[in-house]
Amino acid sequence: MQAPAIVILGQGSLETARRIQQCYPEATIHGLDGRVEGADQLYQAFGDTLRALYRQATPIIALCAAGIVIRSLASLLDEKGAEPPVLAVAEDGSAVVPLLGGLAGVNVMARAIGETLGVAAAITTSGELRFGTCLLNPPQGYALADLEQGKRFVSDLLAGEAVRIEGDAPWLQQASLPASAAARRTIHVGCEARPARHDELLIHSRAVLVAVESGTPGLADSVREALREAGLAQASLACLLAAEQAMADAELHAAARSLGVALRFAPLGNGLAEMAAAALPLARLSTQAGCVIAVAPAPVEVERVGERRGRLAVIGLGPGAAELMVPAVKAELARAQDILGYETYVRMAGPFRDDQVQHCTDNREEMQRARHAFELAAQGRSVVVVSSGDPGVFAMAAAVLEALHGSSDPAWQRVDLEILPGVSASLATAAQAGAPLGHDFCVMSLSDNLKPWATIEQRLDLAAQADLVLAFYNPISRSRPWQLGVALDIVRRHRDGQTPVVLGRDIGRPGQTLRVVSLAELQPEMVDMRTMVLVGSSTTCTFARADGGRWVYTPRWYPTAP
Ligand code: SAH
Repeated sequence: MQAPAIVILGQGSLETARRIQQCYPEATIHGLDGRVEGADQLYQAFGDTLRALYRQATPIIALCAAGIVIRSLASLLDEKGAEPPVLAVAEDGSAVVPLLGGLAGVNVMARAIGETLGVAAAITTSGELRFGTCLLNPPQGYALADLEQGKRFVSDLLAGEAVRIEGDAPWLQQASLPASAAARRTIHVGCEARPARHDELLIHSRAVLVAVESGTPGLADSVREALREAGLAQASLACLLAAEQAMADAELHAAARSLGVALRFAPLGNGLAEMAAAALPLARLSTQAGCVIAVAPAPVEVERVGERRGRLAVIGLGPGAAELMVPAVKAELARAQDILGYETYVRMAGPFRDDQVQHCTDNREEMQRARHAFELAAQGRSVVVVSSGDPGVFAMAAAVLEALHGSSDPAWQRVDLEILPGVSASLATAAQAGAPLGHDFCVMSLSDNLKPWATIEQRLDLAAQADLVLAFYNPISRSRPWQLGVALDIVRRHRDGQTPVVLGRDIGRPGQTLRVVSLAELQPEMVDMRTMVLVGSSTTCTFARADGGRWVYTPRWYPTAP
């Protein structure tokens, strides 16, 4: 199940929302902008937000009247597609009403939330009330074969038919079913491929693992073929298993995606059969269509089979404000098990759940941090390395790639590595000032920690000569007090004193400031290590804005040489 969204309209609901979050720690609290302070995320329009969440199949817990939720979603209810769980919860937590998503487990959620809030859930589903379980929504590890047939079956039971259970259905032991050994109706739990009989509820146990060779095109079809030959239902397939050397094999990942199952890895040993037997010791093995099929006596606990491919994402938080963080980065933070980075940025990326491990380090230990990230990811963990702004701009992405480039460890090479971009400080600052980077520009770090100062001087001279707008990162620090002054002297050789300069400090963070000064006025004392410096070109201009400040922009055209 996706992480639920808890949607609230007013400050008074935040406490109830936080209590519900104890039940779903990965849930995000969405608060109405201007009405709620302290939510995880802000939204503008209630109806649009609810509809967007619904379309993304996100479970919705709305703290408001059931009627408001119904009206907001009414237009979508005829649409085909996933129906996520939707619940209305009273603002004070005194009532929990499951509204939609019966087959997606809304009643299970309603009961769990009810228990957390200390109230009974308002369950209205007849089958569930009568039998104490939703027969059409078997627990994890089991899959219903045919929904329409299942609905008829439940109606028959409600009308008085007795039932008998064939196979192993441990979750039904607690249910109050009209059981009888002589019953005509059966609930059948098993792996075999066959249509459901009209008098049975057929539930597939996800007890099948298929061990596959890597790199064969059409692998998903081979697996389907193997299952068909073995007489096993595709819904019984719990996961694919492959040799750990093949962890980065794109065909394998495509096959698992196409089959909708997890992909696990183990040492190959003496071949597929030995690998499968080691991964599922109690399973019955057979070989079909080049695959080894293992059928276990109970659903496969995928997390305990072999290991998964580790992931390392190097992410950019943007300048600071949550609205300026890209959604892919938010999703990555939600799934991360380990978070590494400079303490300030790790804190900015939070809050984190108790199960997420934070590894805070000093800003200078970048290569060590990169190697630590690979060590964790190579163990199969989901690791995030955080940078501010964009991770590729004077930040961790290059350090992580350098660590990988310098390593011969095959386990590091197999890690699922991805770099997720962020809004860099120069872009965030430029946007606030207007469009100073509207024409060609040059980005430089003025730090001589990792490059010779002579190189910086030479580049400054050439970039200023080339009439590029200049964006300075790391302009000054306590250990580099004089460099900015020298840099400005070089720039002034080529630029007029009236050239506009933008100084953005802590942009997108609390207490942000934006100043526009002329190059002649600019003094190093106006700048610190949290400042972004944008020096205009010969065409950059400014004009008054209605709020008293100034717009700065560099036109897209350039004067042709006389
Ligand atoms: N990866 C970051 C840059 C890291 S270098 C990015 O893409 O933004 C650090 C420098 O970036 C700082 O010295 C400062 O010059 C600039 N900077 C970072 N965040 C900033 C912010 N919120 N406001 C202004 N400047 C910032």
